[in-house]
Formats: sequence, C-alpha cells, structure tokens
Amino acid sequence: MNKALIPFVDLASEWNPLKEEIQAVIWRVFEHGQFVMGPEVAELERRLAQDVGVSFAITCSSGTIALLMALMGLEIRPGDEVVLPAYTFAAPLETALLLGAKPILADIDPATFCIDVDSVARSITRRTKAIIAVSLYGQPAAFDRLNRLANSEGIPLIEDAAQSYGATLNGRRSGSLSTIGCASFFPTKPLGGAGDGGAVFTDDPLLAERIKEIRDHGQTSKYRHTRLGINGRLGSIACAALLPRLNGLVKALALRQAVAARYDELLAVAADTGLIQLPVIPKTCTSVYAQYAVQVDDRERVAEALRKAGVQTAIHYPIPLHRQPAFCRFASFGDLVHSEAAARRVLCLPIYPALTIQQQARVTNALIDAISKGPP
Ligand SMILES: *Cc1c(COP(=O)(O)O)cnc(C)c1O
Repeated sequence: MNKALIPFVDLASEWNPLKEEIQAVIWRVFEHGQFVMGPEVAELERRLAQDVGVSFAITCSSGTIALLMALMGLEIRPGDEVVLPAYTFAAPLETALLLGAKPILADIDPATFCIDVDSVARSITRRTKAIIAVSLYGQPAAFDRLNRLANSEGIPLIEDAAQSYGATLNGRRSGSLSTIGCASFFPTKPLGGAGDGGAVFTDDPLLAERIKEIRDHGQTSKYRHTRLGINGRLGSIACAALLPRLNGLVKALALRQAVAARYDELLAVAADTGLIQLPVIPKTCTSVYAQYAVQVDDRERVAEALRKAGVQTAIHYPIPLHRQPAFCRFASFGDLVHSEAAARRVLCLPIYPALTIQQQARVTNALIDAISKGPP
C-alpha cells in the first residue's frame, strides 16, 4: 500500500501558520522573566473573557483543574451529590470524587451524546449540590432546558466546555451558558495550546474571587491562607502561546466546520441506508467539532478496515464511567442504555483544518466500503 497515512490529528499544520507570532510572544516571556503570573496571563484572561462573553476568565493548569476549582468554588463537600453524564471523559467524575462528593451518573441523549435533561431531572435529590453537563464533541449540551431545571431546583450548573470552545447555543458562546464554564487547552482540543492548560469562566464576582484564591493556595494575600486551595496556575509561556491561537481561531474553526460539512455530504447516502449514524447538531447550536463521531455496528471491524486503508480513527470513549474499574463502586446510577450504546458504537474520524477534500474522500470511501460489506 503506497497511500500516505491520514493521521487522526495534525497539530503541526495548525501551528505552522502562526510560527513568527509564536516565536515573538514566547521569547518576550524569557526577556521579562515573569514565568508565573506574568503579563501574558492577564492578557489571555482579558481576551478570553471578552471572546466568550463573560465577566471573568481565570486561566489554570488544565481542564481537569478548572473543573476541580469550579467544584471547590461551589464549596462541594463530602457527601454532596454531583450529577454528571456517564458517557464522557473521566475528569468531571474524578474531580467530584476527589472532593468526597458522590457522582450520580445520568444518561445521554442518543442524538447529541450530551447529558439527557430528563435523566438529570430524575437524578436530582435534596443532596444534589451541582450538575456538570459536558458539551461533548464540540456542541453545547441542552443548556436552555438544563438552566430552567437547575434554576427551578436552585442547583448550580457547570458546563464542561473542554471540547467546545467557540461553539454557540442560541448565539451565546459555550463557556458562558451556565453558572460556571470550564475550558481545556489540551493540545488536541479545538482551542489547543502548547501543553496542558485550562480556564474557568463565570459572571459571578464572588465565585470568580474564590476561584482565583483557590488557584493560588487559597491566599488572599501572600502567606495569608483563607481557604483550602491548590497550585492551579497556568504558566506565562503557555498563556503566551495561546494568544496567536486565539487570533487565528475564527478561521480555524470555520475550516473545521467546513470539513465536518463535507463529511456530512460524503456520508449522506450511507446514512440514509441506516448503516451509519452521523452527528446531529440541533438547529439552535453550532458545533466546533472537537470530534466528528459517527456510529456504526461492528465498530472494531470497521476501524480495522480503515486502518488497513491508511486512515487513523479513534474511539472516544470505549468504556462508560459506570463500567470503569476505578469508579464504578463509587458512583450511583440507573439505566444508562444510551451511554452503553454510544461506548459500543462510536467511531471518531480525522478532523482538522488542513484535511483536504481528497483525504476526506479516502476516509469516507474506505468507511462506506467497510460498512456496506458487512462482517466476513
Ligand atoms: C479533555 C477533557 C477534560 C480535561 O481537560 P484536561 O485539560 O485534559 O485536564 C475534561 N472534560 C472533557 C469532556 C474533556 O474532553
């Protein structure tokens, strides 16, 4: 086989156009020497807050730490219940467990992969102290309905926006859709940085103040610790590298969305036959396509056929949280059929701005070939 490999991600192609800008902003940090909480941190926070449309953006060392600090800011305590989806990355559940809270796993909406609002409603008890909804694969969860539910119950709502920076719901940006939004700048996320990174977004001045203190060991001033905190800071170099990324984001996201639209087109006929399910983005939303996740029966065979055709794919996520050895005994949950089905059937295709039409045709031809052949 002489066809070039189509990789699952291609980060170099995303950074290349920014080379000069990156070199300049990063070298500036070495010149002023404020590697921690330097001027780039404040600048990035100002830019993020403005971009997302919130009063406060607090950068931090990862998306996981953003979630941890959000829960700490809400003063989640041992025994409190936190409702979150069973089908997602482990971070929301880990952070709840680290604080001694009890994760209550809700099912997902089979069309959008995001938390199912009725399942959340069924999971709420008088001990529920927070809801974490994940805007999975780059599209906002149903925050219009989730906010109504959370408000009527008086429960704070956290958006895990690790995969959805830049997405919108009714014209409002992901990260600004609930009490607190948590972003990740892990390199492969839609707003990927040069290493780990994250941010917390909120309009609430009290929460913002608390979370800033928590990020710096709970200090209100040097060596005066008024609450339990951590070192959650993001370095100046990491912040600096994100500034050019943010400048180029609108363009990069438009290209990603164009790639997704081409997949939709190339796979439309196969989808009509029912052999494959394509991502469903509600009309009220835009997605930034952190993943282009299709669903097929017999996924392992299809993934193997694609691999043989030189196409890398990925499975986000093969095991739902309630089946993870480390977590299952700590979490509480009811019926999670849609989470189970997604974990069995999801296959993520390569998606990045530089993916060409020719490469996409190779991906979809191999995919259509595999699903129409069926098992040997
Ligand atoms: C990546 C991710 C996180 C964690 O972000 P890190 O920056 O890797 O700590 C949390 N939630 C979801 C849904 C993610 O995809």
